[in-house]
Amino acid sequence: MSERNETILIVEDDAQIRNFILYALRQEGFSCITANTAQSGLSAIVAGQADLVLLDLGLPDMDGMDVIKKVREWSEIPIIVVSARDQDREKAAALDEGADDYLTKPFSVTELMARIRVAIRHLHKSGAAKTQSVFSVGDLSIDLEKRLVYVNGSQIHVTPLEYNLLALLFKNIGKVLTTQYIINEIYGVKYGNDTQALRTLMAGLRRKIEETPARPRYILTEIGVGYRLKDE
Ligand code: CA
Repeated sequence: MSERNETILIVEDDAQIRNFILYALRQEGFSCITANTAQSGLSAIVAGQADLVLLDLGLPDMDGMDVIKKVREWSEIPIIVVSARDQDREKAAALDEGADDYLTKPFSVTELMARIRVAIRHLHKSGAAKTQSVFSVGDLSIDLEKRLVYVNGSQIHVTPLEYNLLALLFKNIGKVLTTQYIINEIYGVKYGNDTQALRTLMAGLRRKIEETPARPRYILTEIGVGYRLKDE
């Protein structure tokens, strides 16, 4: 067990889930604080007691979505939403409100840790990453300065739109991006929510970077929500 510096706030009204998360995080060496209402969670964030928030969307006193809105008015603290199954639209909405990621109940400790590691890495990297221009995952690399893409060390041809899509995913590696967010970033807000163009663009990009496009290794589909570039 290693001691970590980050303190994680668990906002969850279900005692069983709260204790499960608390136990798992303490095993990993995190210090934790808990809140069983939105109001007590918000107080802890305002008081600067946490570095990262695990937020249940169904809270007794306030909708978790409103908690995200309130926090995002003044804080960039990483928020990982914990939601029940079959709430794809809610998950996407939470991400669009500014949540960093989500977990679907029931989830494993492995999943929980993977999400937290990504969020913490983003927390520490936001300053340092600006000087770096080459990023890799597996055999896939991108040079953000030269706008070039490599697979297995060989440069491959991608269209400007495919490049922009891949660059966006690399800048948010490990994080799920909603379909709507990607469309806004790639085509602009005027494009509305036409998801077919993005699906076609994604299929073309996958044919170039994935060995088996039907079973993608790099860009994963988050059903009903969006896409995630796997952080290996
Ligand atoms: Ca709940």
